[in-house]
Amino acid sequence: MKNIYKNSSLNLARAKKILVKNNIIGLPTETVYGLAGNAYSNNAVKKIYKLKKRPRINPLIIHYYNLRLLKKDAFLSEKFLKLYKKFSPGPLTYILKKRENSKISSLANANLKTIAVRFPQNRIIRKLLCNLKFPLAIPSANLSSAVSPVCSNDVLDEFGKKLSFILDGGKCKIGLESTVVNLNKKIQILRPGAISAKEINKILREKVYFSNKSNKVISPGMTKKHYSPGIPIELNSKKMDDKAACIVFGKRYNTQKNIFNLSKKGSLEEAARNLYKTLRKIKKKGFKKIKVVKIPKSRIGIAINDRLKKAAN
Ligand code: AMP
Ligand code: MG
Repeated sequence: MKNIYKNSSLNLARAKKILVKNNIIGLPTETVYGLAGNAYSNNAVKKIYKLKKRPRINPLIIHYYNLRLLKKDAFLSEKFLKLYKKFSPGPLTYILKKRENSKISSLANANLKTIAVRFPQNRIIRKLLCNLKFPLAIPSANLSSAVSPVCSNDVLDEFGKKLSFILDGGKCKIGLESTVVNLNKKIQILRPGAISAKEINKILREKVYFSNKSNKVISPGMTKKHYSPGIPIELNSKKMDDKAACIVFGKRYNTQKNIFNLSKKGSLEEAARNLYKTLRKIKKKGFKKIKVVKIPKSRIGIAINDRLKKAAN
């Protein structure tokens, strides 16, 4: 397919060339696909916001290979280092204090005193980061407030010709965005993800708070709606409906044209991987309404419920 480039050393070299010129590419991470640009370049970061139609008050996550470059951009606290040792590279994003002489474009962190940083685990993006002299600003590769992409074709669906280079890395291993944890003052989860509050608590031995107001703090009243397929969604439905697309979980459901099972065997990890793909499929089939059964609120189930709630908003 045009615009989509498979994982090869030639294509990684092409990707690097585009990024060095402060242009934007689509690429895989283990969470969802991202839109990547040089985090040190105002120009590159501007292009990301424009392409996504993202409000400029909603900051981006900065992706690093390891601590080498990060040391120059942020203060590394003890708590951060403990979590880093355990969970990075992986699906955990840390909010750290930005250094005043950091080269990170202030557009990328919406002029805040903090930056969000992550060390992705996906092998393809790591090969790329390892060869760059700058970190990458990467939001999810979808139009602002839409459903995140979990394969290269989803990215193509979102941007078409507007994005000329997408690195293919197959399906995302996790399928939901990273956990975001604020490490300044109290420990606070700003966005739940594959790494749970429980796991973070186990390492830091400190109470971990939840915040469902993260978006309000950063971008007042802007981004309540998120992850939206653009169809009304009813949550915790007990009754199925022949006309609605029904999203279910577990083995007690029949196979029917309007029934979409996130995981027949009742695995929350599998359900997370299938969630966005299912929302996209339902939209393409032209359903006008979605009903979702109750999904267990444990481990990554907390993140699944969080996304569904925002999608229903
Ligand atoms: P996305 O780009 O869709 O992966 O979303 C990134 C998330 O990280 C958004 O919810 C942002 O609001 C959040 N974020 C990024 N930078 C910061 C920051 N400096 N402080 C707090 N939240 C941040
Ligand atoms: Mg996003």
